[in-house]
Amino acid sequence: MLNGAMESRFDICVVGGGMSGMTAALALAQAGFEVALVERIPRRTILEGSFDGRVSSISWGSKLVLERLDAWQDVVPHAQPILDIRVSDRQSPFFLHYDHRDLGDHPMGWIMENRVLRQALDSAVGRAGRVHPVCAGVVAMECDDASATLDLDDDSRLRCNLVVACDGAGSPLRTMAGIDAWRHDYRQTAIITTVRHTRPHDGIAHERFLAGGPFAILPLPGDRSSIVWTEDEDVARRVLELDHSTFAEELAWRFGDFLGPLDVTGPVLDHHLSLAVANRLTGNRLALVGDAAHAIHPIAGQGFNLGIRDAAVLAEVLADMARLGLGPGSGAALAAYARRRRVDTWMLVSMTHGLNRLFAMRSPPVALARGLGLALVGSMKPVKRLLMKDAMGVAGRLPRLMTGERL
Ligand SMILES: Cc1cc2nc3c(=O)[nH]c(=O)nc-3n(C[C@H](O)[C@H](O)[C@H](O)COP(=O)(O)OP(=O)(O)OC[C@H]3O[C@@H](n4cnc5c(N)ncnc54)[C@H](O)[C@@H]3O)c2cc1C
Repeated sequence: MLNGAMESRFDICVVGGGMSGMTAALALAQAGFEVALVERIPRRTILEGSFDGRVSSISWGSKLVLERLDAWQDVVPHAQPILDIRVSDRQSPFFLHYDHRDLGDHPMGWIMENRVLRQALDSAVGRAGRVHPVCAGVVAMECDDASATLDLDDDSRLRCNLVVACDGAGSPLRTMAGIDAWRHDYRQTAIITTVRHTRPHDGIAHERFLAGGPFAILPLPGDRSSIVWTEDEDVARRVLELDHSTFAEELAWRFGDFLGPLDVTGPVLDHHLSLAVANRLTGNRLALVGDAAHAIHPIAGQGFNLGIRDAAVLAEVLADMARLGLGPGSGAALAAYARRRRVDTWMLVSMTHGLNRLFAMRSPPVALARGLGLALVGSMKPVKRLLMKDAMGVAGRLPRLMTGERL
């Protein structure tokens, strides 16, 4: 820990030690930079504690990055491979089935508890050598032609060439830099919990579009599944007030009996859903990464996967610029980062936003068209393969941390 020092200097300061921040710090250290990782919540609070109910699906492409960053080995014993994904629309007879064998013999992704990811990333940070954790909150940022300065709430100060804001959807640094965000309130709540069932899930994930919103069944290790159940906020409030057994009945009614009787084992959490996409991904000596750049609807389980790709591309671009003698905060480096991340970010923002709106429409002709659309996509092999590659995080130009090439 560096607290207490009046001023310390680094190549790069990553602000926010959540999953995106730790990933960015590891990628940037691998690119050869000395990195401060600034997080206001003490590590012990973030890492300790029992399962809090939050899980993530990590795509095949993200796994390749985490492997290169030395974080995957601690995740994989606790991760459930996703072998199939089944997408269905209410009572419609049409559905879409993604089978991992259509693209090779490896899983499409994995699902694990977020605490497993956080612990694995934290251990990798400990081994990385060039990442220096700082426990403090950033209260002010100043950037000029020479450097960026961060004032911390313990009265110390950090100076660096580049600040990487990984400080979440509400990003205080984005606000300090005067970067606006496009916001949308979905007026929906995700109800998150875990169930145990008697029959095995066989690694199959289900995304069901129900009247209230998407209902995801995500397979976890053991005969367990995580549920992300989206409802309009007023309905969700009522659901959250139910006693345990009525809640379990409502859940089982939506889940069905295909995995046998259910036991609600996890805590029940709720998360208000909104969109916040930064108008610009960069500012003067500032790059936005993860939810600070784009907090999206969890309908496709892709938010952190997008943050992993931000981190991988930023490290690659800065390594390329360093070989040409350009520092990490140079305008050329930041412009290259913004250019490389534009398409991927906006594709996913439009896809998640559009899907949520499309499946919220209740008129019978739209419902019929949706069902036919699912069936059509399922029957068009090239389109289906493209969508699968997208879900697996391996569509388009891949960062070198994914392809195995030197950074
Ligand atoms: C219901 C739900 C399900 C999801 N499922 C998936 C999924 O299956 N797959 C997937 O890829 N994504 C998923 N996501 C998205 C994913 O959880 C987020 O994209 C990811 O957690 C964002 O991480 P982050 O590090 O960018 O931000 P955060 O986790 O918000 O971390 C920000 C950090 O910055 C710190 N911080 C903030 N301000 C300061 C400051 N001034 N100084 C110091 N530190 C500061 C905070 O303390 C915090 O630790 C889901 C999201 C939801 C809501």
